[in-house]
Amino acid sequence: MQKKVTRRIRRRKKNKRIFVFFIPFLLMVLIVSSMAFLFGRLKKEMDHRQQDNLEIARLHFDKSNLDETDLDEDNVDDGEWCLTLVNKWNPMKTDGSEVETIELSNGQLVDKRIYPQLQKMLDDARAYGVYPVVASGYRTWSKQEALYNEKIEEYKAEGLSEEDAKEAAESWVAIPGTSEHQLGLSVDINADGINSAGGEVYDWLARNAYKYGFINRYPSDKTDITGVANEPWHYRYVGIKAAEEINNRGICLEEYLE
Ligand SMILES: [Zn+2]
Repeated sequence: MQKKVTRRIRRRKKNKRIFVFFIPFLLMVLIVSSMAFLFGRLKKEMDHRQQDNLEIARLHFDKSNLDETDLDEDNVDDGEWCLTLVNKWNPMKTDGSEVETIELSNGQLVDKRIYPQLQKMLDDARAYGVYPVVASGYRTWSKQEALYNEKIEEYKAEGLSEEDAKEAAESWVAIPGTSEHQLGLSVDINADGINSAGGEVYDWLARNAYKYGFINRYPSDKTDITGVANEPWHYRYVGIKAAEEINNRGICLEEYLE
């Protein structure tokens, strides 16, 4: 009797051991193998993507070596419309609702007249091997107002008074009516964060954007004149002729229009 009981206890212990060791082991095997499977698929997907990108870059490489003669062939309308000055001392004369926009593939809007050159610039950047995205384009009055108020609230939440919060917010977000984004002629361009880092995109734009009629609107050495801190991502369409002159003379839009 005593023996039987001991055997039973032993068997129970054995069963318990199976549960304690075998089940977690099985789970572990399952987890590891599914992770290996997922990683394998992810890597395959990434390799595929890289291959595609290389292919695109190869296909477009010649296009990225644009020079002035290539650009002269473009039928670009560089009228007065693209030289409108808007800054904190020169607010817009309309509410911006008259801007005829076109939607980019990521949902951002821009004035449809700048679209051909913008698309060309983005295509050429990608062909060269940097991957920009338009993070912000045209903004309605209410959108600008919302961004502005949001920033004020952020500063108030940090403990600033209404007045101080407003002042702090204005150095980051323009007061509604004074943002070039409301014209539809400006875009904030960042790197996609997957194939390119910010610096690469800003460098490429700094060297090439003027060829497409875009200028780095707020250079670091012109903050006194523009009223805006250095923003290497903010590009403004002014037309190829003006952009070339602004680039060659190292001036900003305010100085060009003087
Ligand atoms: Zn901007």
